[in-house]
Amino acid sequence: MISIARWAIKKTARASVALGSWATWRLVGPGGASGRPEIRVLTYHRFGTVARDPFCISPTDFKGQIAYLAESGIAISLNEFEESVFGGRPPRRGAVLVTIDDGFHSTYSSALPILRDYAVPAVAFVTPSLIGRSGAVPVTACSDCAPEDYMDWRELEQITGANIAIGSHSWTHRSLGRMSPAQAEDEVVRSREMIEQRLGERVTAFAYPFGTRADFNARTASILKGAGYCCAFTSQHGAVRPGLDPFSLPRVKVEGGEGLWLFKLLLRGGLDAWSWVDRTLWHIQASGHD
Ligand SMILES: [Zn+2]
Repeated sequence: MISIARWAIKKTARASVALGSWATWRLVGPGGASGRPEIRVLTYHRFGTVARDPFCISPTDFKGQIAYLAESGIAISLNEFEESVFGGRPPRRGAVLVTIDDGFHSTYSSALPILRDYAVPAVAFVTPSLIGRSGAVPVTACSDCAPEDYMDWRELEQITGANIAIGSHSWTHRSLGRMSPAQAEDEVVRSREMIEQRLGERVTAFAYPFGTRADFNARTASILKGAGYCCAFTSQHGAVRPGLDPFSLPRVKVEGGEGLWLFKLLLRGGLDAWSWVDRTLWHIQASGHD
C-alpha cells in the first residue's frame, strides 16, 4: 500500500499520459502514431483486493481485461511472439502478450482460472530459489506490499498445462546489473536449468528483476545470450517491434485501481510515452522499487 497522495499523483499522471496520447492519435488519424507492426507485452505481478497497491490487480478488473483481449482476438502466446519478432512472421494487428512476474500464489489461485476460461495464453516469470516459500514478503518491486506465498512446483506444473509458458526471473530476484558477471551468469544458468529439469519445458525467455535501467546492460545481454535465452524483458515502457535488441525488450505495466478505458488505451500505446519516466527517473525507480 502506498500513501493516498502518492497513489493519486501516480494515477493522475498515468491517466494524463494516456489521454494525451489519445488526443495525439485523434490528430494523426486512426491506426496509431507509428503504423508499424508492433506488439505490446503487458506486465502483471499479483492479484487480489489490496487497497492502493499498484502491483496488485483485482480479479474483477483482471477478468474484464482478459475478456476484452479474448473478444478482440489479439492475445498471442510466447511462441507466436518469438516467431513474429525473431522469425519474420508479421504479428497480427494490435497483438498483445500477457506476462506475470514473480511467481506469486495468486497467479495460480486468481489469474489461472480466468486465463483458462478465456483461453488467453500468458508467460509466468518465476524465481526458482523462492518457489514454494510461504508467508514471504514479496521480493518484488514493491517495498511495502502485503506478504504472499509463492507457487510451488506442483502448481507450476498445472499452469504450464494451461498454455502458460514459464520463463526465468533469475535465481534469487536480485539485480543482474548490480552484481559481478560470474554471479549474473550463475543466476541465469541455474534458474533456467532448474525450471527445465522440474517442468520438462524449454525456457527461452527471461525477465530482469526490477527491470529499471540500472538492472540490465550490454553485459547482462551477452550473458543471457551465452546462456541460450532467446529474449529478455525489462520494465521499460514501449512497444516491441521487429529489429529491437532481443535482450532489452520493453513492456507496459498494468496497475491496480485503473479503469478498463485506461487498459484499452495502453493496448494502443497510450502509456508508451511513460518511457520518458523510465529514462529520466530510473535512479528513483531503482531505490524506490516502483
Ligand atoms: Zn520481479
